[in-house]
Amino acid sequence: MRLIIIGGGIIGLATGWRMRQAGWEVTLFDKRRAGEGASWAAAGMLAVCAELEPGQEAGFALGRDSQLRWPGFVRDLEIATGQTVGYRETGTLEVAVSDKDVARLRDSYTFFKQLDAPMQWFTKDAACDLEPALSHHIQAALFAVEDYHVDARAVVTALREAFLRSGGKLIEDCAVKALRVEDHQISDVETAQGVYEADHVLLAAGWEARDLMLPLGIDLPITPVKGQMAALDGSVLRDTVLTHVVRTDHTYIVPREDGRIVLGASSEPGASDRTITEEAIAELVQGAIEIVPVLRDCPVIDRWAGVRPASPDGMPILGPSGWAHLTLATGHHRNGILWAPASIDLLCDYIQSGVESPLFQAFSLARFDRL
Ligand SMILES: Cc1cc2nc3c(=O)[nH]c(=O)nc-3n(C[C@H](O)[C@H](O)[C@H](O)COP(=O)(O)OP(=O)(O)OC[C@H]3O[C@@H](n4cnc5c(N)ncnc54)[C@H](O)[C@@H]3O)c2cc1C
Repeated sequence: MRLIIIGGGIIGLATGWRMRQAGWEVTLFDKRRAGEGASWAAAGMLAVCAELEPGQEAGFALGRDSQLRWPGFVRDLEIATGQTVGYRETGTLEVAVSDKDVARLRDSYTFFKQLDAPMQWFTKDAACDLEPALSHHIQAALFAVEDYHVDARAVVTALREAFLRSGGKLIEDCAVKALRVEDHQISDVETAQGVYEADHVLLAAGWEARDLMLPLGIDLPITPVKGQMAALDGSVLRDTVLTHVVRTDHTYIVPREDGRIVLGASSEPGASDRTITEEAIAELVQGAIEIVPVLRDCPVIDRWAGVRPASPDGMPILGPSGWAHLTLATGHHRNGILWAPASIDLLCDYIQSGVESPLFQAFSLARFDRL
């Protein structure tokens, strides 16, 4: 069976790799180099508790499921490629620096405890014991014990390699221009390098997926949300400054094994350019220094931007598209790295069996009355 995948981000590459393992012939198109979209820009937090909020319970369940799949996913990927992907099983500390923050964290704590999330309330002293570089202005913290992190760039680099080694055909710098349909089902795709036939097509084109669905009469509710990021050189400090992800409601700090300290991220709905502004970077650095003052000694060594694919409820759009043999996989917004292992297993099962998992209900395009 022939599968065409449009888009080589974490979702397209990982699904392509798994479908090759299942014996399908897979051709993946990316209009740029695969892996250099939103997935390249991501901080790599696997943050079920720190990123999700009331109303996103289905996303929480998908996230918990995915957190459990991450160790196996990493193991398979590292065995397939011989590359490491910076997966670190240290949790995330969300800190409060004001009375308002303390009240917000208390609400989060109550919400996540109802969902049985692995989360602990920390006093200021407990937080500073865990991370001695924290500012003394910290009032309290929530410790999301299993909100681990991974190096997202290393993950997509390894996935690209795993896909190629498994025999997948990768066609880069080649945009898919149109999806062609016949008798209410997908027949082939028109690309910058000609027309390709397929038995099944997976649309995993991130924030750009909407453009390909409009001519088919489906207005996919996906909008771009730009995020700017920076990295500091933590190796200038004598000691390791942080071992856990540390965050407030507007800034997060992700320490990498190589000494880089990643800071994120702006959230700019509607923007799809990748330009960097001094104001956004200065705000990130200021936000980080406020909670970890020693970071003021670390120079900024990198800055970049990426574009998140956002649906109206912040959760992914997975599964049926309204056209037979055309499957949707977009809208992973702020959590596509976290959700990837669970999303791709759902997608692979559906593409092979044609049977919709009950889990798709919460993530179907039908929830927006667009089918
Ligand atoms: C700044 C930032 C920080 C983030 N941090 C985190 C985080 O810490 N944790 C987390 O879980 N998530 C995070 N995210 C979100 C996560 O990165 C995304 O949800 C995820 O990468 C989406 O993956 P994707 O494969 O759907 O899209 P992408 O990685 O964007 O891949 C889509 C691909 O499709 C290609 N494409 C588009 N149109 C076409 C076409 N017509 N033809 C061919 N190819 C096409 C693009 O070139 C691109 O390579 C972050 C995102 C950003 C921007």
